[in-house]
Amino acid sequence: MARVTSFDELTFTTYRSVFMKSCWSDRIIFLGDAGHPTSPHLGQGANLALEDVWTFSECLKQKTEFQSACLLYESLRKHKLRYYQRLTHWLTPFFQSEGNMKGWGRDIFLPIMSQTPLLRSQMLKTLCGFKTGWTKSEFHKTEL
Ligand SMILES: Cc1cc2nc3c(=O)[nH]c(=O)nc-3n(C[C@H](O)[C@H](O)[C@H](O)COP(=O)(O)OP(=O)(O)OC[C@H]3O[C@@H](n4cnc5c(N)ncnc54)[C@H](O)[C@@H]3O)c2cc1C
Repeated sequence: MARVTSFDELTFTTYRSVFMKSCWSDRIIFLGDAGHPTSPHLGQGANLALEDVWTFSECLKQKTEFQSACLLYESLRKHKLRYYQRLTHWLTPFFQSEGNMKGWGRDIFLPIMSQTPLLRSQMLKTLCGFKTGWTKSEFHKTEL
């Protein structure tokens, strides 16, 4: 950071959420950001990409046909990926958008939400990458 002396040396970025109906076709599968790019506000993109690759490699061990492996992969991953994609998509305007109102709302309500017992555990599970859907998580018994 010491080498950065003015805003002209920085690059501004934009984010785009992409929702694919299916992440594979005859001979190609889209994993990681290629399959589900989102804004990085939940900090889960690298985790999801690594899980995608590990899950697909396990599917290839179980199914010798590429398409069968893709079908199995999709069934195993779709709920978790959909949850993180949708939530990130909804949260993005509160972190990056024109105007101040959403930013104020975020600064007021997020601290309150993180002190509310049920919401707190859901928020922590989300940020730990444990959630596998709106009502489900991988570690049900984990005390957070
Ligand atoms: C500002 C920011 C902060 C983030 N913070 C977090 C965080 O805290 N935690 C977290 O988990 N995730 C975070 N992410 C998201 C995370 O970086 C990505 O989700 C993750 O890197 C996706 O991994 P990937 O392998 O799918 O794609 P990438 O890491 O993008 O890898 C794709 C690779 O393919 C290469 N490539 C592209 N086109 C070609 C081509 N035609 N031929 C050959 N190679 C090619 C690219 O150069 C790149 O190296 C953040 C992202 C951003 C932008």
